Amino acid sequence: MEINNRTVRLLERPFGFPKKNIWSFNEENFDLDLKKNELLVKNEYISIDPAMRGWLNKGKSYISPVSIGDVMRAGTIGVVVRSKNNFFKVGDYVSGWGGVQEYNINDGKNFNIIDDKKINIKSYLSVLGMTGLTAYFGILRVGEIKKNDTVVVSAAAGAVGSVVGQIAKIKGCKVIGIAGGSKKCDYVKNILKFDDCINYKSNNFFTDLKKSCKEGVDVYFDNVGGTILNQIMMFISKGARIVICGAISQYNQKPTGPNNYLSLLVNRATMKGMVVFDYVDDYELAIKEMRKWILDEKLTTSEDIYEGIENFHEIFLKLFSGEKIGKLILKV
Ligand code: NAP
Repeated sequence: MEINNRTVRLLERPFGFPKKNIWSFNEENFDLDLKKNELLVKNEYISIDPAMRGWLNKGKSYISPVSIGDVMRAGTIGVVVRSKNNFFKVGDYVSGWGGVQEYNINDGKNFNIIDDKKINIKSYLSVLGMTGLTAYFGILRVGEIKKNDTVVVSAAAGAVGSVVGQIAKIKGCKVIGIAGGSKKCDYVKNILKFDDCINYKSNNFFTDLKKSCKEGVDVYFDNVGGTILNQIMMFISKGARIVICGAISQYNQKPTGPNNYLSLLVNRATMKGMVVFDYVDDYELAIKEMRKWILDEKLTTSEDIYEGIENFHEIFLKLFSGEKIGKLILKV
C-alpha cells in the first residue's frame, strides 16, 4: 500500500524572525511496509509551541535541535491506522512526538494511548499535555506556592500561563495575570477568574502593575522575559521565587538580561529555570490530579484550533503576534 504524506521539513536555520522559506512543504509517497513493533499513525492534531523556535537554533539546549531536512518536531495526537505492535491496535488514539506531517511511523516507544471517555481528546495536547504539565510542575515544585501568596504570571491567556494561574487560585493564592490587550485581560479575569489582569500593551502598564502589586509579589512565573521580567523584579517580596519557564519576547533576538537583578539580593529571592521533561516520572500523578480538577470544573481548558498543514507557518507565527487564546493547535 502506498501512502501519500504531507510534511513540513526544515530547510535552513532562521536568524531573527522565521520566514516562510525556512520550511519546505512536501507531498511524499512511501510504501507502507511496517516492521515488527511498528505502527502507522494518522495525525489529527499537532501542538504548536514557542519551544519550536528554540529547536530551530543550532547549539546546546535541553534537547537537540531539529536537523536540516528533518520533519519539524511537534507533539501530536493521532489515530493508529496500521499496527504490528501488540500494545497498540487499529483505532487507538495516541499522543506522542509525531511531527508536523499527516502520517508517522513509529515503534510506539514515546507514544501513549489516550483512553478517556470523559475528557475531550484535545485536552491531552493542552492542559493534560506538555503545557499543562509545565504549569503544574513549574508553579508547584519550582514556585512552591503557599496559600495567600501573591502570584503574577505573564502570557496569562496562553497555554501555560492560563493553567499556572488557575492552579494558583485552586491553592488559595491571589493571582495577577499579564496579557496583551483588553480582550485577553477580560478573558483572564472573567473566564479564568484571576483576581486581576494587566495589559502590557497599554501605556499605563507600569503604573497598573505597581498598583496591583503594591503588597509585593511572592511568586512571578515568567513566560516572556525582557522588559516585563525586569519591571516585576522591582515589586518582589522578601523570599520571592521567580520561575523562569520561558522568554518568548527574546526568542527571535539576542536575549538581554534584567538589570534589576540586585532585587534578588536585597529580597533574598531566587530565580530558577525549569524544564518540564525533568518531571517525567511524575507526569501520571499530575495528569490524574489535573483531570480531576477539570471534571470538578475547577480548571478550564481552552484550545485555539486552526486547520491545514499547508498553513503551518502562519499558524506558528500566531504565538509571537499573540493572535490566539489558550493552547494553539493545528488540525490536520
Ligand atoms: P502561549 O502563552 O500559549 O503563547 C505565547 C504567548 O506569548 C502569545 O499568545 C502572546 O500573548 C505572548 N507573547 C508573544 N510575544 C510576546 C512578547 N514580545 N512579550 C510578551 N508576551 C508575548 O505559549 P505557551 O506554550 O503557553 O508557552 C509559554 C512560555 O512557556 C513560552 O515562553 C514557552 O517557551 C515556555 N515553555 C517552557 C516549557 C519548559 O519546560 N520550560 C515548556 C512549555 C513552554 P499576548 O497576546 O498576551 O502577548
